[in-house]
Amino acid sequence: MTKEIISKLAGENTPLYYYNLPLLRETISVAKNAADRYGYHIHYAIKANNNPRVLQEISKFGLGADCVSGYEIERAIDNGFKAEEVVFAGVGKTDREILTGLQNGILSFNVESVEELRVIGDLAKEHQLVGRIALRINPNVDAKTHHYITTGLDENKFGIMMHQLQTCVDIISENSFLELIGLHFHVGSQITDLNVYKRLCIKVNEWNTWFYERGYHIPILNLGGGLGINYAEPDEEAIVNFSNFFYLFHEFLDLRENQQVHFELGRSLVANCGTLVSRVLYIKEGIKKNFAILDAGMTELLRPALYQAYHKVELLSDKFIEQEEGKEVTKYDVVGPICESSDCFGKDVLLPKLQRGDLIGIRSAGAYGEVMSSRYNLRQELSYFFKE
Ligand SMILES: *Cc1c(COP(=O)(O)O)cnc(C)c1O
Repeated sequence: MTKEIISKLAGENTPLYYYNLPLLRETISVAKNAADRYGYHIHYAIKANNNPRVLQEISKFGLGADCVSGYEIERAIDNGFKAEEVVFAGVGKTDREILTGLQNGILSFNVESVEELRVIGDLAKEHQLVGRIALRINPNVDAKTHHYITTGLDENKFGIMMHQLQTCVDIISENSFLELIGLHFHVGSQITDLNVYKRLCIKVNEWNTWFYERGYHIPILNLGGGLGINYAEPDEEAIVNFSNFFYLFHEFLDLRENQQVHFELGRSLVANCGTLVSRVLYIKEGIKKNFAILDAGMTELLRPALYQAYHKVELLSDKFIEQEEGKEVTKYDVVGPICESSDCFGKDVLLPKLQRGDLIGIRSAGAYGEVMSSRYNLRQELSYFFKE
C-alpha cells in the first residue's frame, strides 16, 4: 500500500475490505499464462471471494467458474463467466440448484454420490435437458493441511465410494440425458507441499486407467484446487509460483488421447489482493499481556477463530515512519470486539507501540474473508476500497 492510499484510507469508515485490483489482475494473468503453456483450463472457485468487482476482473481473463451453490452459479454468470464453463460441486445439491445448473447448460455437475446422480438423471429426463457429469473420486491422498480443510481422505464426506463407481457408470449409460464428461478430484486447501499433488497425480493415473480399460472415454480430468499461499510473507511472495504448480502436473499426469486437464483454484488467485483494514479502538494494558482491541473481529474475518489461521497483522502507517534507533516495539494480543474468546487475530504480535485510532492491516484476507463475514452481534455493514 502506498502512502497516498493509506492517507485516503484514514478518512474511510472501518472495518473495510481493501482490494488491490492491479495485483489481482497480475495474479490472474500469471496463473492463466502458466496454465496456457500446457493447454490447461482454470475455473475460479467463487466461494473464495464472490465480490462482484472481483468476479468481473477475473472473468475478463476468460477463466471458468467453480460453484458450490445455485446462487453462486447465477452470480458467476451475472458477472461475466460463461455458463458452459461453470462446474458445480458440493455434497448437498438441492433439486432447485440442480435445475439452475441444467437450465443454464453448465459444463459439469461434479457428482458426489450415487443418490445425487440418480436425482440429476431424473430431473434431466423430466425437463428434457442434458446433465453433464464428472464423477468426484476421493483419492485418499492426505493434503497435510489443517484437518478442517482436508477433503481427500476416505474418512471425509466428499466424493463417491470406490465400490460404487461401477453403479454410477451404469446409471449414466442407461440415461440418455446424462453424459459422462469427466473425473473430478479435490484433496484439500492451503496445500503448500507440492508432493501432495504428485501423489494425487499417481492416483489420478490409476483411476484414468481403470476407466480406460473398461472402454470409457473421459474427456476431462479435473484436479480441483487447493494451492496454498504464503501467509507469512504477503509482500515477498505476493503471487505463488503457478509455473511450478502446473509443471508438476505436466510431468506426472499420464493423459490419454484428447483429454483436457482442468483446475479449480480459489485462494491462490485472490487471497493476497485483499487486506482487512481496521482501527485500534483501545489499548488495554494487562498484567501479563497488552491487548490491542480493533474495530474488526471474527465477524469480518472468521479464519483465525475458525481454524487458528495465521494472518500477518501490521501497522499500516508504520511503513512510512522513519525507523528510529531502538524504537519501541511491544507485544500485543490483537483482538476483535466480539463476545467470543476465539475472536483474536494474533497472540504476542510484535508491533510498534500502538495508540487509539491507528490503522491496522490484516493481510491476505482476499480469500475466505469477506465471503465468511456475518452480521452476528448486528455488526455494521462492511465498507470497501478498491485500488483501481
Ligand atoms: C473450495 C474448493 C476449491 C478451491 O479451493 P482453494 O483452496 O481455494 O483453491 C476447489 N474445488 C472444490 C471442489 C472446492 O470445494
